[in-house]
Amino acid sequence: MIKIAKFGGSSVASAEQFKKVKGIVESDPDRKFVVVSASGKRFSGDNKITDLLLLVNAHITYGVDCTSLLGDIEARYQDIVDELGLKWPLAEKFEAFRKNIKKHSPEYVVSRGEWFTANLMAEYLAMPFVDAADVVVFHHDGSVDMERTAARLKDVMVRKGSFVLPGFYGATVDGQIKLFQRGGGDITGAILARCVDANLYENWTDVSGFLSADPRVVDHPRSIRRITFDEMRELSYMGASVLQEEAIFPVREVNIPIQIKNTNRPADEGTIIRENAEAGEDEHLITGIAGKKDFVSVHIKKAHMSNEVGLVRKTLAIFERYGVSVEHIPTGVDSFGVVVNHDDVRDSIYSIVSDIRKEIAPDDITMVDKLALLSVVGRNMSKRSGTSGKIFGALGEAGINIRMITQSSQEISIIMGVNNEDFDRAIKVIYDRFVRDEVIEPNEK
Ligand code: ASP
Repeated sequence: MIKIAKFGGSSVASAEQFKKVKGIVESDPDRKFVVVSASGKRFSGDNKITDLLLLVNAHITYGVDCTSLLGDIEARYQDIVDELGLKWPLAEKFEAFRKNIKKHSPEYVVSRGEWFTANLMAEYLAMPFVDAADVVVFHHDGSVDMERTAARLKDVMVRKGSFVLPGFYGATVDGQIKLFQRGGGDITGAILARCVDANLYENWTDVSGFLSADPRVVDHPRSIRRITFDEMRELSYMGASVLQEEAIFPVREVNIPIQIKNTNRPADEGTIIRENAEAGEDEHLITGIAGKKDFVSVHIKKAHMSNEVGLVRKTLAIFERYGVSVEHIPTGVDSFGVVVNHDDVRDSIYSIVSDIRKEIAPDDITMVDKLALLSVVGRNMSKRSGTSGKIFGALGEAGINIRMITQSSQEISIIMGVNNEDFDRAIKVIYDRFVRDEVIEPNEK
């Protein structure tokens, strides 16, 4: 069994965290391939090494002296070296970095965060260090050359048997360092998992996986043990994000499950994300509830519009012209709505409405703002009839007006619009009735 264990910034922030990582890696012989981020925050208000390195670049660009900043960065690593009694020649390596700092590209400078962290971790875990610049191959346009990367990763895997790999960067064939987007250590882990045909991609972080609702709204929400990629995308889109979204695709395509685990509470089960739930697993009706406030719905009414070809397209083209992305289009027979983010139309809404009036000639056009969208997500909802009715009923009983309803095409989510001020209460009502007090019924279909 091959497990890729990727540790995020907070998991490698200090010597204390390094010790936890060692405990985790050594407790399972299948954890032979480790990916690390750069040391992150040790406490709230602390700095991530990556942010400090970005600041170094800014100092260089504006010709400001960065000696003390570099001193702070070195001190972070020196603390780890001292506390763990490591032999790695940090002072020498850091001096070489410092001396040539102006000759290096900004990407190179930022990538040193993961490079230093991975070198220290490799010694501490007594595993070989593999430089991502030698194995993660980028095209010049910034995309990954998967074929070359897979060949190189498979090769080092066989030759070394185990290793620590820095996340977040790679290099072009001519050695130019390239970075993934922020948080991109997750992407490195996913690419490694895919290229070496891993059985599991473990993503170690500082939370015990996904929660079924926002803990700021609901008291002690249940953690989600298992979730499908589709469900996760629905929840992340609505704000419940744990994982770098781009990290999902490399493993999803080849059906490798991801497990989100907590470095600070390794015994917690965490969340497993996979393509399809296995039969007999978690029969919960609702996997999670998430949502966001501040949407605007533009409601257009026109008699016999269902016979008028191209009306919706023409309307959407107007939004497109103003660069506004459309969230939902709930439709009726002679009316439809266009739901957009309030911030996206702050300056353009009146022009958009006036263009719709001119180009579509609707009988009526109204706007509802301060709309919150909440998405109730659950792969099992499609298997049990009457779910949406029960949810709407519960909100109705609580006196919450539902202003809009849509259901995703695979029936894994029901999205409802409520007034901003009813948002928290709507989530609590649904959570209490369908998650907290759930009686698990067998699936019907
Ligand atoms: N160190 C990088 C960042 O802070 C990448 C990562 O942590 O995954 O964005």
